[in-house]
Amino acid sequence: MALLGEEGVSTGETVLDLHAGDLSYHPRRVPDAVAFPTTTEEVARVLAWANERRVPVVPFGAGTSLEGHVIPVAGGISLDLARMNRVLELLPNDLQAIVQPGVLRSELNAAAAQHGLWFPVDPGADASLGGMAATNASGTTTVRYGGMRANVLALEVALADGTVIRPGSRTVKTSAGYDLRSLFVGSEGTLGVITELTLRLHGLPERPVAIRAAFPNVGAACRTAVSLVGAGLTVTRCELLDEATLRAVNAYKETSYPEAASLFVELDGGEDEIASTREVCGWEGVVSFEAETAAEARTRLWEARHHAVFAVAAGAPGKRWFATDACVPLSVLPDAVEHGRARADARGIPAAIVAHAADGNFHLALMVDPDDAGEVAEAQELHAELVEWALERGGTSTGEHGVGLGKLGYLEREHGDLLPYLGAIKAAFDRNGILNPGKVVRG
Ligand SMILES: Cc1cc2nc3c(=O)[nH]c(=O)nc-3n(C[C@H](O)[C@H](O)[C@H](O)COP(=O)(O)OP(=O)(O)OC[C@H]3O[C@@H](n4cnc5c(N)ncnc54)[C@H](O)[C@@H]3O)c2cc1C
Repeated sequence: MALLGEEGVSTGETVLDLHAGDLSYHPRRVPDAVAFPTTTEEVARVLAWANERRVPVVPFGAGTSLEGHVIPVAGGISLDLARMNRVLELLPNDLQAIVQPGVLRSELNAAAAQHGLWFPVDPGADASLGGMAATNASGTTTVRYGGMRANVLALEVALADGTVIRPGSRTVKTSAGYDLRSLFVGSEGTLGVITELTLRLHGLPERPVAIRAAFPNVGAACRTAVSLVGAGLTVTRCELLDEATLRAVNAYKETSYPEAASLFVELDGGEDEIASTREVCGWEGVVSFEAETAAEARTRLWEARHHAVFAVAAGAPGKRWFATDACVPLSVLPDAVEHGRARADARGIPAAIVAHAADGNFHLALMVDPDDAGEVAEAQELHAELVEWALERGGTSTGEHGVGLGKLGYLEREHGDLLPYLGAIKAAFDRNGILNPGKVVRG
């Protein structure tokens, strides 16, 4: 309280509880205190104080991450950046915005839309931009715009000892030395606290089109996703739901979508691209094809995609998320999705399967009771099978959610040869190991 004043710190039970975990199955643990800094200087002051006393500090954005990232496993301070929530500058002539880390992506998009611009990285949840950078978030629009690493130009970062650094620059490109900006993107709060971000903005799509196309099988749908991008169409989003997931959506929403592997595609080419998309879908024997250009109709067409995970959640009241996140080379995705479905079915685990089909990233969304050790273990075994399968085929354990607690072992399996270097990087920035201990690299 001496550092931030009474308003800036809370030890109230409700506030502590809100910072004890995320939406996932990972066991919760309350921090000793929650700090709410409003400036970079306050962040640096808290860090310097904590560093001197070896007190853990866990940055907290919007708390939407899914791998136990924000859980203060060693207690200490949860550093909630929600009050650093100002869009500092919109620079339409540079196609850039400078924001504080607590700005939500919806807030930046509301401000950017006034200039016909948007920040397209879309992790599904309304996350904070600091948290999105810290997890290298990506999602439905990655196929066209890339993830956070492609859209963060510069950062301001407060290090564990309170030093403030500014990696990156306001230019579109730079070759000035080691790329520390990219290192902090995806560092999950373990190397520093992001206190400011300079982000790329993009023009809002001029002629958006939504398409839903059903295919005879998952392989045909996945191959079509790659062909659409390969054909040079302006694919903004390209999502796959498998047959069983659409069956679950129909049961949950009382809808009648074709129960077949389906692509949900968004393009920015108006009517011109509808015909080309239909033709490409025809190469793989598309069985139904619908296209819409009007805003409301586009939203309706995409509804099944948005409801997929909720269809699984609705059948499991009181349970929590367990979301797998393996990513494979594009040609492997059909087999990966079929393997995932077969393994979940063999174990009798209800799962929605959603894939960013043009990225090779696929999710099995499961619901588990965190207090049922058997159920958690069964889901973890399934997860391990999927990751092992993906790694054997050139994939990665996490395409976008990050390591957190849940994928520590998989990082070791995937990049065991790199662990000494990761440990050295951690020690170079956080000698006392106070920043988000127990995540990404074991302490
Ligand atoms: C329904 C749903 C769908 C999702 N779909 C996707 C998806 O498609 N793609 C995807 O990438 N993710 C997805 N996610 C996960 C989540 O939304 C992302 O990981 C998001 O980037 C987390 O942002 P946040 O603000 O909630 O961060 P938090 O959860 O608060 O924090 C995440 C991590 O970042 C660190 N951190 C937060 N702020 C800072 C900061 N200022 N400086 C340094 N470290 C910081 C934290 O310590 C923690 O390690 C989904 C989540 C949900 C609930």
